[in-house]
Amino acid sequence: EEAIIRRSAFTHSLTQFPSPPSSARSRSSYDYLIVGAGFAGSVLAERLAADGRHVLLCDRRPHIGGNAYDFHNEDGILVHRYGPHIFHTNSQEIFDYLSQFTDWRPYQHRVLADIGDHRLPVPINRTTLNGFYGLNLKDEAEAALFLAARAEPCDPIETAKDAVVSQVGGDLYRAFFQGYTRKQWGLDPSQLDRSVTSRVPARVSDDDRYFLDTYQAMPLHGYTRMFEKMLDHEYITVSLGTEFADIRRDHPEAHTIFTGPIDEYFDYRFGRLPYRSLEFRHETHDARRLLPVGVINYPSETVPYTRITEYKHLTGQIHPKTTISYEFAGGEGEPYYPIPRPDNQALYKQYEAVARRSSDVTFVGRLATYKYYNMDQVVGQALATYRKMSKAHASTIAA
Ligand code: FAD
Repeated sequence: EEAIIRRSAFTHSLTQFPSPPSSARSRSSYDYLIVGAGFAGSVLAERLAADGRHVLLCDRRPHIGGNAYDFHNEDGILVHRYGPHIFHTNSQEIFDYLSQFTDWRPYQHRVLADIGDHRLPVPINRTTLNGFYGLNLKDEAEAALFLAARAEPCDPIETAKDAVVSQVGGDLYRAFFQGYTRKQWGLDPSQLDRSVTSRVPARVSDDDRYFLDTYQAMPLHGYTRMFEKMLDHEYITVSLGTEFADIRRDHPEAHTIFTGPIDEYFDYRFGRLPYRSLEFRHETHDARRLLPVGVINYPSETVPYTRITEYKHLTGQIHPKTTISYEFAGGEGEPYYPIPRPDNQALYKQYEAVARRSSDVTFVGRLATYKYYNMDQVVGQALATYRKMSKAHASTIAA
């Protein structure tokens, strides 16, 4: 791992990154029209261009990178526009693939939850149990016994509430999960699928890292810089501020790869797929550091936001000021999280069935498959789609 993560001094210029690749290379015909310049669209553009295909990549936003987009704000602090993005994966293939376009800064993410007078680690670990219950559990065996005594088994485990209460019991559920989940989703955990909490298990060790993956690192100069390198190819034309609807008829020769919302592609013919949205309030302070870790969660429903992020922990940037962002969840706005409920999944399945019958378009990414994916999973999905496409292409040529 050390050999792959190339360390180098981390210094930032105070200027914006150079503007993204322009449309200077535009041509009249393309092999592929790719909609969305996030991970899904950019990985496919890069792979197909490397194979000699001409690609037109459009995004309705004025920037590349999709939801992983980062930029230097007016004070020169590198921030993430759509919420904190921490890269982690167990896949060497995915890590090696992205390493062609960036060096990395090793970063282990840590999160504390603000509970009454305490700030305690999440996911819940032995330190959390000792702090919350005023105990002195000395090792994993003692912590496991204690947790087992708190757990309230239920069968079957169907909802997010069942999943948590059966692992850690009602006290920890109410303090750490219930309010946070209600704010995050606008629904009580008893109304949400159990899959919602699979990302926040409890541990009996005192390991306080948020992720346990083999590779945990941030692109050394940020995500946007990494995307710029990925898309810097003579066969890729990037068209920003461009709606798919405005150009979909201009390139009938091209196969479409769509990474936007699948219901939008089919004109919402079965109804809208519901999403939870987020809003961010950014503040810059005259201080080198404000928080002890990158993210503090606020499970209490008396606080309107769900969490505060301090970006310099993630990026390692050295700067006399610091920027934090408050995160508020809501129903309206940009689509962020698919809402994991069985009726929504059933609606998605209707769209998926039409998608399977549509041979002129391929759907890839989190919005197109209506599922929460981490960045590495989307890269993996895009690489797998590319492999399938090149196999199909090879067999067409052979035929
Ligand atoms: P996007 O990045 O959403 O890209 C899709 C693009 O398509 C967008 O730029 C959009 O503008 C464009 N588009 C859509 N429709 C159209 C249209 N009709 N015409 C033109 N353009 C269109 N993952 C992690 O691994 N680690 C994290 O820490 C992490 N944190 C996250 C925090 C938040 C708040 C959220 C919401 C997600 C987080 N993720 C994280 C997940 C990560 O954001 C996604 O895995 C990744 O961005 C998905 O890439 P994508 O290409 O599928 O979609």
